[in-house]
Amino acid sequence: MPSVSAKGIIIKQTAYGDGHRILSIFAEGLGIVKAVVYGAVRSKSAAAASSQFLCYGNFELYRGTGRLMSVNRIDIIDGFYPVCEDICKLSLASYLADITYETLGENNADDRIMRLFLNAAYALAYRGESIKKIKAAYELKLMSAGGYAPVLGCCAECGRADAVKFDFEKGGVLCGECRERNAVKINDALLWAMRYIAGCDDKKMLAFSANDELLDYLGAITETYVSVQLDKRFASLDYYKTILLS
Ligand SMILES: [Zn+2]
Repeated sequence: MPSVSAKGIIIKQTAYGDGHRILSIFAEGLGIVKAVVYGAVRSKSAAAASSQFLCYGNFELYRGTGRLMSVNRIDIIDGFYPVCEDICKLSLASYLADITYETLGENNADDRIMRLFLNAAYALAYRGESIKKIKAAYELKLMSAGGYAPVLGCCAECGRADAVKFDFEKGGVLCGECRERNAVKINDALLWAMRYIAGCDDKKMLAFSANDELLDYLGAITETYVSVQLDKRFASLDYYKTILLS
């Protein structure tokens, strides 16, 4: 079938050729797909106006003979505009989109991760949650849902119940006896928060309380875990931190 309709959210947009735009759309039942909006830069069409980062809506896509699909029509459900009006939130959303793309790749349908991303975008736009909390919770939830779930229940090496450090490469907590490869010390509050996020219902990933100090500690661990597990440094994370500190 050459024409496909799906709900989706734009997680990246890049200029393409003379006045066109390529969108990476995270779509229900399809995964992350690329599609061109022809004439997006100059055209006054509805599809051109709505082909912006974080636009969530119904997409009508056309699959021709070429490698890329094209966008026929977008009916916006939500543009998450408060995110786009705040440089700090926008830079975080851009980083969260990057790690999502890296975790999933293209054309791998994953409606659970798509909903997680939507939840994070919604929280950034409309909930008065700390953005540090949204970042850390999404990083850990994405890893858990995307096949990189850390071992948090007992020592990842020997199975003992005590957990005193978190090893990024071994992918979980370690007891005091087991030798680490690349680890940091953890305390009970941190372990509790990590267990909560990894194990909770997806919709409740932000329903825990943590002070700023704990969120900083948690966020440092979750972002390093993402980077080590995906074996990639994210320029968008460096940019987000620059904005956060400025
Ligand atoms: Zn051990």
